[in-house]
This record gives sequence, structure tokens and C-alpha cells, in this order.
Amino acid sequence: MNIIVAITGGIAAYKTASLVRELIKLNCNVKVIMTKAAKDFISPLTMATLSQNPVAVENFDPENGAWNSHVSLAEWADALVVAPATANSIAKMNLGIADNLVLCTYLSARCPVIIAPAMDLEMFKNPATQRNINSLRENPKIHIIEPTSGFLASGLSGKGRMAEPKDIAQFTINAVTPKTMKGKKILITVGGTSENIDPVRCISNHSTGKMGVAIAHNLAKLGAEVTMLKAKTTVNVDPIYNVNVIETISADEMLAQAKTLYPNVDIAIFAAAVADYKVENPQSQKIKHTDKACNIALVPNPDIALQMGMLKREGQINVGFALETAPHSEAVTYAKEKLEKKNFDAIVLNTLADQGAGFAANTNKINIITHAMQLDFELKSKDDVAADIVKFIDTQLLKK
Ligand code: C5P
Repeated sequence: MNIIVAITGGIAAYKTASLVRELIKLNCNVKVIMTKAAKDFISPLTMATLSQNPVAVENFDPENGAWNSHVSLAEWADALVVAPATANSIAKMNLGIADNLVLCTYLSARCPVIIAPAMDLEMFKNPATQRNINSLRENPKIHIIEPTSGFLASGLSGKGRMAEPKDIAQFTINAVTPKTMKGKKILITVGGTSENIDPVRCISNHSTGKMGVAIAHNLAKLGAEVTMLKAKTTVNVDPIYNVNVIETISADEMLAQAKTLYPNVDIAIFAAAVADYKVENPQSQKIKHTDKACNIALVPNPDIALQMGMLKREGQINVGFALETAPHSEAVTYAKEKLEKKNFDAIVLNTLADQGAGFAANTNKINIITHAMQLDFELKSKDDVAADIVKFIDTQLLKK
């Protein structure tokens, strides 16, 4: 993906060095352009070195008169990111003023434009700035990434800090990704449920929820409307993706929410590690410590995937997971049994017998099994595995 990073003259320009690095980490080709004022805050040499491309500041190279064509730059780009965007440049962008290379490139761009405002809090609050931002926002190809609140270079504190480079990079990728799942409503269960023994103790499992959260992020990137029934996880859902998160600690809570939401979704993904058993009589007071053995009676939890499978109507898609400990060929047999029993359209199998797969690792190795086929994937990061699963759902399961 080709990205132009346009730097205008604000102190947050120093953070743009990290933004370029983040974009390169995400496999983007980056070209930097900057205003003359931006050069006072960060050097073109720094940006050229980090972006691995020459930096353009003037419409003409002052040394040899070569034209820095804003038109070709704009045509080359899949996205233009203006970061930091000063109040002055935002105003000029809104008015269509073209008195420097950044503004000429902006006016020529047909690609999505991401604007990361950064300024002092009063400048940001000023009705003129707000009018300009709101007016730019009306253009569907323009995406504003809101500044955050906090300590500002002026010594004051308030809203005006440029968003963090990592967030701007993700936001950019997100803005450029085609929204192939737009309008699709998706329910996903994530994390390990906890079943209370008493108010301080519970039964749970080692699930981290990393796979489920990564899947939800990838679905949202493609424009899907995602609701997550979230049990205990060790990772957070990134607010950038607008996932609707409903906390459901126990299997019973998760089931109650699933029953309400399932009838209205197109796809349900059951990525949660639901405890198979719950405590028959959870105590309302903390059980006292004694020297004696303690027996706790357990009863089966409801099977959420199974129950939703029974409710499945024509056109709905259910995707399940099977985490097995058995050697691979046996694990495939178990997964196929679950595919049938729970009325899934596809099941994602991972077995702890495979190195690098399972709960604790940041990697996973999966097979996707449907009633008609089996796809085998290499060991990958959980993020890349999530992208494979979502791509499979989008291109193979969804009828377009
Ligand atoms: O635990 P089991 O291997 O049967 O889980 C297979 C699938 O069923 C997973 O997708 C899991 O999220 C789902 N499941 C569920 N409710 C349960 C048990 C499992 O939704 N009580």
C-alpha cells in the first residue's frame, strides 16, 4: 500500500517519525512531503531516512528546478495522511488554498485522506477550527482522527494532542481497506468464561481471548458490525474498531445475551472457551478455609454454540472452534463431529499437539473444515490467522 505522509508545522511533527516507522512495519511504501514550517520541527533528512524515499518540500527543487509533481504524488498514493495537521493547514484545506506542495497534493488527491489535527487546546476549541474540521468531515473521503486530551507543548492540558502514531497507522489501514463486509451483522463470543464458586473464587480456563479479539478487529476492518460477548481476556479490544463489547462473565450470562442477539445477526462466531461445568450451588459468602477436603458439585454448562445451531435459520452462518490436545488426525475427526453436532458451517481446528498453537502462544496453526472441504494453514501470528479466518468467511461462506 502506498502512503503519502504530509507533515505541517507543529510540534507534534516529531511524532510523525514514529508514524512512518509504524506504516513501514505494516508493509506500506511511504513518501513524505512537508511544509517549509514543518522543517523547523523535524528534519527532511530524518524523514527521508525513515521513509527510505526522498522528501519533497517545494513544488520545485530549488537546486535544479525539477518539478515535484503534486499530481503524480497524489496519483501514486492509496492514502494521504496529514499528520500533524495544524489549524492553519486545516483552514487552508477547507478553503481549497494551494500555496504549498502539501496543499496542492491534498487538492489533487483522489484517495482517502486521513487528517490528524494537533494544536493547542484553545486553537482546537476555536469555533473557526471546529467549523473547518466539521466542513472537511462532510467529504466522505476525508477521515479525521480526533486529537486526544492531555499535556500539551504549551504547558497547558486539554484536547489537542495528536493521536498516537500507532493509532494513526491502524486508522489509515482501516480507512483504505475495502469494506467488503459492510452491513453484515456479526456476533462473536470471546475469552474464557468464569464460573463462581463463591464471591471471590471461580473456575475458569487458560483462554486469553487473543484469537477472538483479533478476529473481531479484522471483521470490523472490513466494515462488519461486530458485537462481542466478552468473557475474561488478557487483551483489550481496540476502540478504533467500534466493536460493540458486552461483558459476559459466565456461560449463563453469555447464553442469555446470545439468545437475544442471535436472531438478528448474519454470522455467529463461537470463539469463546466456555467452561464445560459450573458450580451447582455457588455460595453467597466466602467459603471458610479449613483443613478438610472440600468437594464442589459441578453441573454441565449450557452449550451456547449448540443452542444457537438449533435456532439457525436459512442464510445464517455459524462458525465454531475446536481446540484439541489429541494428535492431528484424531483432532480432525473430533472437529468434524463438532461441525455436525453443533450445526456449524465451518469449524476452525487448532491442536495443542502442534507446536506454537493454542492459548499462550502469540502464534497459531489452524485448519478450517467445512462439510465439503478442509483448508490447512501454516503456523502464523494470531493476527494473520485471524485475517485468514475472516477472509475465508468473507469470500467462501458469505453469499454475495
Ligand atoms: O468445548 P467444545 O470443544 O465442544 O467447543 C466447540 C465450540 O463450541 C467452540 O466454538 C465453543 O466456543 C463452543 N462452545 C459453546 N458453549 C459451550 C461449549 C462450547 O459455545 N458450553
